[in-house]
Amino acid sequence: MNKIALLTSGGDSPGMNAAVRAIVKTCLFYNIVPIGIRDGYKGMLDGDVFEMKYSDVDNIIHTGGTILGSSRCLEFKNQETRKIAIDNLNKNGVDGLIVIGGDGTFTGASILSDEMGIPVIGIPGTIDNDIYGTDHTIGYDTALNTVIEAIDKIRDTASSHHRIFFIEVMGRHAGFIALNAAVASGAESVLIPEEIPDLKQLVDQIQQQNKGKRSSIIIVAEGEQEGGSIELLNKVSPMLEGYDLRPTVLGHIQRGGSPSAFDRILATRMGSFAVELLLDGQNGIMIGSDGDKLITTSLETAVKLHNTPDLERLKLLKKMLTKH
Ligand code: ADP
Repeated sequence: MNKIALLTSGGDSPGMNAAVRAIVKTCLFYNIVPIGIRDGYKGMLDGDVFEMKYSDVDNIIHTGGTILGSSRCLEFKNQETRKIAIDNLNKNGVDGLIVIGGDGTFTGASILSDEMGIPVIGIPGTIDNDIYGTDHTIGYDTALNTVIEAIDKIRDTASSHHRIFFIEVMGRHAGFIALNAAVASGAESVLIPEEIPDLKQLVDQIQQQNKGKRSSIIIVAEGEQEGGSIELLNKVSPMLEGYDLRPTVLGHIQRGGSPSAFDRILATRMGSFAVELLLDGQNGIMIGSDGDKLITTSLETAVKLHNTPDLERLKLLKKMLTKH
């Protein structure tokens, strides 16, 4: 193995740079030439590649986003288009490919590992934590902490003005961020896509809680079935007359920022392991974490199945609300 190419794709997540750094440094450790591909599969298609040096990854472990850039490249779903991208890698003498991204990225990688003749390894980088085969994806821990910090600030206003805030958080079709942010911020309720919400029950709960407390934080996952915080507020407000209800969409601040220690360490371990798996002759697999261990799952399985949050946490949340 002389040359290993790497790319970041799909939604960016904090810690992607730490993974890029670890891949490049591990390649250089084994005298392999790391080839950076800019802007995900788009760069592979355009032949936008460059040899990466030690200096390219100096001072990036603490930065958010991705120095390689990312994109959503829908043409990649077309086999003829993928052939052009594969030819580009062959022309550059690439012997292995490492992709960092989410579900969509791995769908592309899984197809590539069959079509390409060059081995592919996947590293899960997404704030959503919805990838099967890992208990943590790179970026999730940082995003969760960003969300909690924002909720703590909103709570100051909520309690001062006796308001009820519906705070919408990211996570696409998964409720990991919402559910765990609710537990960690002491929220009064949470609505996630994995559990059909009962709006009447939510309204009763708000009325009950606000008799004494007069402020509430309700976390709403973006993929939640009632359509996000604004839609939800429109539905419940006729049943909550006299209450001061406010929607807040946290938005893209959840993706950015310096990665947490947890994400930096996970990214460094996964990045380095990816290079070693290629050296070991592995192909078509994704790296995951199981507690403190690194594990592998086939990319094919990883894209077929989904990770779902532990719904026991909903019960935990309810216990935290019991008043005596
Ligand atoms: P994420 O990896 O964060 O889930 P996307 O869903 O946007 O983000 O996927 C990233 C990229 O993966 C897409 O822009 C596309 O280039 C590629 N991709 C997604 N689905 C497929 C597919 N079915 N076939 C080939 N490539 C795909």
